[in-house]
Amino acid sequence: MYCENLGVRGLASKFGTPLYVYSAKTILDHFLKLKSAFSSLNPLICYSVKANSNLSLLKLLTSKGSGLDIVSGGELYRAKRIKCPAKKIVYASVGKTDKEIRDAINYGILMFNIESKPELERVNKISEELKKTTKVALRFNPDVVPGTHAYITTGKKETKFGMDEVEVKRIFASHDKYPSLNIVGIHMHIGSQIIKGAPFVKTFKKANRVIRELKSKGAKLEYLNVGGGMGIVYDKERPQTAKEFAKKVLPLLKQSGLKVILEPGRFIVGNAGILVTKVIYLKETASKNFIIVDAAMNDLARPSLYGAYHKIVSLTKGSNKRVAKSADIVGPICESGDFLGKGRKIKAKAGDYIAVLGAGAYGFSMSSNYNSRPRVAEVLVKNGRTYLIRKRENYSDLIKGELII
Ligand code: PLP
Repeated sequence: MYCENLGVRGLASKFGTPLYVYSAKTILDHFLKLKSAFSSLNPLICYSVKANSNLSLLKLLTSKGSGLDIVSGGELYRAKRIKCPAKKIVYASVGKTDKEIRDAINYGILMFNIESKPELERVNKISEELKKTTKVALRFNPDVVPGTHAYITTGKKETKFGMDEVEVKRIFASHDKYPSLNIVGIHMHIGSQIIKGAPFVKTFKKANRVIRELKSKGAKLEYLNVGGGMGIVYDKERPQTAKEFAKKVLPLLKQSGLKVILEPGRFIVGNAGILVTKVIYLKETASKNFIIVDAAMNDLARPSLYGAYHKIVSLTKGSNKRVAKSADIVGPICESGDFLGKGRKIKAKAGDYIAVLGAGAYGFSMSSNYNSRPRVAEVLVKNGRTYLIRKRENYSDLIKGELII
């Protein structure tokens, strides 16, 4: 297996395992595919930092003109560290704190995506204290079924995200209650790993209707932020390409007459990264076989958290021929939910390297120190060279900030 022109086994033996490996070329390729599919709209593409927040990846994307979609003070800090132009930052999240709001206003971000009336009031109050006028978009919850896992469904009315049509209209009607705000946009994000166009089409039709009504009542709208959510291949899915997606939704987005913002995360980095791990032991029991590897649910939470499927392949020649016996590929963590894959038929022996594919999005960014496991290293392959973009943590990193009393 190669990442661009470099053998992955070589990277694993050089940097150790577990190891995240990313391809800069693939990341940029995905970004440019989306940019070109939507070029007739010249949208602002704000890469969703939560998908993979490594500074080098953020820098790589912003150097090509991407903005950033952030959801916390920590993500704002990252954006500042790579000097992302403030006017290319949009900020969502249902629970922004006063400090986070203040910091983002002071940095001069393009706008907040507002998720509730109390939040709107808070941003207005803080803007007033800072003697600033702040641009905001209202996050509209269109109540559509995006056809994805419940935990990454965000556009149904039962979820905590955004506001329904009635609330959005009510707020626009009373916009003079918020003198320190400029309500300039509608924001939506209906969920993640959505492989079909239909839920987006339904959402954008609803949004256009709301936008028409608001405009007819004098709302001065400038932006339509359609969020992220485009699905990728993990297994046998056949997600729409950027071009197919654009073909379905461009006419609707043009109808809105507004400047479009996209917030892709998974689409850009998901299939640009893998997690390489090493087999520690093979364990055979009367009822099941296990391939025990050195990566675990703390390194890649998606299988445990969502039952997500990732393709897993051996990096040892000839080992991907299907073997008769299947095995669960598990980590060393003390939870039965700690697995990377179940019932896989790959040949393995202790010391073999194994790669978990499609691990670039919501992989490292969701990782933790559970079981006091240092977080793993990340490597970026770019123009034929390898860059260590995050050092492997050591034991002293684990107790940083802890006090013994
Ligand atoms: N925008 C918002 C507001 C989100 O919450 C998310 C993900 O949760 C994204 C964009 C990125 O989604 P995806 O990675 O599916 O493109």
